[in-house]
Amino acid sequence: MADKSFLSWPFFEDRHRELAERLDAWCTTNLPVAHHDVDAACRELVGKLGSDGWLKPTALDTNNPGPLDVRTLCITRETLARHDGLADFAFAMQGLGTGALSLFGSPEQQQWLAKTRAGKAISAFALSEPRSGSDVANTEMTATRDGDSYVLSGEKTWISNGGIADLYVVFARTGEAPGAKGLSAFLVPGDAKGLGIAERLEVIAPHPLARLSFDKVRLPAAALIGRPGDGFRIAMSVLDVFRSTVGAAALGFARRALDESIKRVAERKLFGAPMAELQMVQGHIADMALDVDAAALLVYRAAWTKDMGAARVTREAAMAKLFATDKAQEVIDKAVQLHGGDGVRKGHIVESLYREIRALRIYEGASDVQKVVIARQVMGAA
Ligand SMILES: Cc1cc2nc3c(=O)[nH]c(=O)nc-3n(C[C@H](O)[C@H](O)[C@H](O)COP(=O)(O)OP(=O)(O)OC[C@H]3O[C@@H](n4cnc5c(N)ncnc54)[C@H](O)[C@@H]3O)c2cc1C
Repeated sequence: MADKSFLSWPFFEDRHRELAERLDAWCTTNLPVAHHDVDAACRELVGKLGSDGWLKPTALDTNNPGPLDVRTLCITRETLARHDGLADFAFAMQGLGTGALSLFGSPEQQQWLAKTRAGKAISAFALSEPRSGSDVANTEMTATRDGDSYVLSGEKTWISNGGIADLYVVFARTGEAPGAKGLSAFLVPGDAKGLGIAERLEVIAPHPLARLSFDKVRLPAAALIGRPGDGFRIAMSVLDVFRSTVGAAALGFARRALDESIKRVAERKLFGAPMAELQMVQGHIADMALDVDAAALLVYRAAWTKDMGAARVTREAAMAKLFATDKAQEVIDKAVQLHGGDGVRKGHIVESLYREIRALRIYEGASDVQKVVIARQVMGAA
């Protein structure tokens, strides 16, 4: 049974506490789903999460507009991740993929949101390229104005939901200025002519992932999100909302690893007594619990700060993501150690957590990049 004492912290309102309980019960009944075909599993998860109403917080409700509630996003990701990494992925991408539309989309573009919130359309966020991952300013893909159209040419890679998405938010160079200031964001339907899957990518914790090719993809001028040259600002604003939720997912993985370890050391006997009686084992459990609580404090501080109306939470979100993902890796590694041989057995829960956590320290800004962000924020404020 996961420790839920954090829900009594002052960061939350009763609606968050109630959500955590209801979602946990839903997860116990509905998760995990079979993962052998990740495309089918993701479609099933998006459909299920949508039809049961869990995707509503991922995007703007155009009938009742208001800011995205980051605490709700974080609690949902933490809870889903504790039960099934792929369910967390399916939920997270509906938010990340449509974030630019929620924050900057035209009313026409925002018509997609009713579908993504209901699980009837799958979304993706396409920023990274083969030669520009961390270095977004180096984006090479071009969007050239041609009368009433934009024509997109180039490649995007590591695109989650690549191949199964119904809509992509794509960042491309429109050239208003050199570097980051010359990028713009576009809404690209999944069936756009010239958009192709160049390669499906397999990673250690499988989920739908692809390299995409854009061969003169012609879009109406109305596909532009925000203004020309706003692309980098839009991407960073979206990440400002969703970055702390990556920390929340890591927290869910870490909490599951801790729960499994507590169970294991109570049940497993070594040298005539439960492992839990060995002081070195207690030391590991204490370190794990400490890291989980500290990560939770940083994640929910960032979420609360954003929900209280802060324009940007760059420093708080970077700290939350960096600490929660790096520490979750350590917590899960300890869980593997405490499980002995079972910890590395294919199909064991801690083995899958060990694979699940790794990419979170790389995407949406690698750990090293978060350190640069934090240092700039801290030194800039001094
Ligand atoms: C599973 C997965 C899913 C992804 N999903 C998406 C998606 O949906 N959409 C999307 O657009 N992208 C996605 N990405 C791409 C991801 O955002 C990039 O992989 C990430 O930004 C790193 O870029 P890169 O892989 O090109 O590595 P590089 O940019 O080459 O960086 C390599 C390493 O260099 C180090 N480094 C980088 N910058 C600095 C610095 N300033 N100082 C010190 N060290 C530094 C870091 O350790 C980094 O890991 C995904 C990636 C993965 C692995």
